[in-house]
Amino acid sequence: MGILIFAETYKGEFKKDSYELASYAYEIASEKGSSVTAICFNAVNPESLSNYGVNKIINCSNEELKDFDVTIYSDCISETFASENSNILILSSSSNSKYLGGVLAIKLNAGYATNVISKPSFSNGLCLKRNTFTNKAFENVNILTENSIIGLSKNSFGLKENNVRSDIEDKKFDIDSAANKVTSIEKMSNKVTIADADIVVSGGRGLKGPENWNLIEDLAEVLGAATACSKPVSDLGWRPHSEHVGQTGKPVSSNLYIAIGISGAIQHLAGVNSSKTKVVINTDPDAPFFKAADYGIVGDAFDVVPKLIQKLKDFKSTNN
Ligand SMILES: Cc1cc2nc3c(=O)[nH]c(=O)nc-3n(C[C@H](O)[C@H](O)[C@H](O)COP(=O)(O)OP(=O)(O)OC[C@H]3O[C@@H](n4cnc5c(N)ncnc54)[C@H](O)[C@@H]3O)c2cc1C
Repeated sequence: MGILIFAETYKGEFKKDSYELASYAYEIASEKGSSVTAICFNAVNPESLSNYGVNKIINCSNEELKDFDVTIYSDCISETFASENSNILILSSSSNSKYLGGVLAIKLNAGYATNVISKPSFSNGLCLKRNTFTNKAFENVNILTENSIIGLSKNSFGLKENNVRSDIEDKKFDIDSAANKVTSIEKMSNKVTIADADIVVSGGRGLKGPENWNLIEDLAEVLGAATACSKPVSDLGWRPHSEHVGQTGKPVSSNLYIAIGISGAIQHLAGVNSSKTKVVINTDPDAPFFKAADYGIVGDAFDVVPKLIQKLKDFKSTNN
């Protein structure tokens, strides 16, 4: 059995998801007496994957591979999958990896399971537990094809350090020219994005207006968190649509989601169900969000949040 992971980078640095994929792959490989190979594109620190159990790292360094292109990336990954005699490919649940997953499933004639939250069992093909129905239910799925693709749900396995010796191969692929060329990328801001954040602080209509968003931003800053909001908040133009979380907005799989003045409508919860710990601050003890919360404070955001910020600042200054 051979396992290949696609380790995604941003500006050459590995995303945290890549180390999680490596940790996950290492455990499967250890159980099966196999090894882990990683493919990455223009990584500046490929050797760091060896801290998470990757035995061989293939770093593709063609200049044309700097920006994501589904056709070229999938060609390189499928070629590597074959040359490394792999039969399991592991991807993250980022938008680019999900895009690649469908294309690679065709190229590799592989079964593909997304939103996977468990290690596979090998009783009947490859049996995997996955989230479904916007994380409201689990299902077990058996991949019966010879090749399999696992799309691992973010933060479902965590990071586990396993230092191994790695071979690093710098590789140049013969690639066709891309159908589309990215000419420039403009990021909205330098703040942590919702997709990559470990902690998300989110505000709803209970904040009364955009003039009060300093509460959300100050709390996010002290926690090193991304900011988010409910749909009406972005519809009203209080916040940009890029921050809208939920069924019709962005999904959040953070370790901590703090919802302030958000009622917890089903469409909002659909986007946050896979976050690990949910904290709710709301004046209404019957707000539906409390049923989904791990911790709740029944209280006025304008009273609770400044106190919370002050406590966190005090805690940080005494622990630094
Ligand atoms: C097809 C469809 C798709 C949708 N998709 C989404 C989606 O993707 N994401 C999404 O968010 N919504 C979505 N919605 C809208 C959703 O149904 C809710 O209307 C919306 O989530 C409510 O936003 P809210 O909680 O900010 O506002 P409200 O429902 O107005 O709730 C405000 C909350 O703030 C509390 N509050 C008031 N004052 C304070 C205070 N001082 N301190 C603390 N708490 C206070 C209130 O008790 C209340 O619970 C969708 C709706 C439809 C029909």
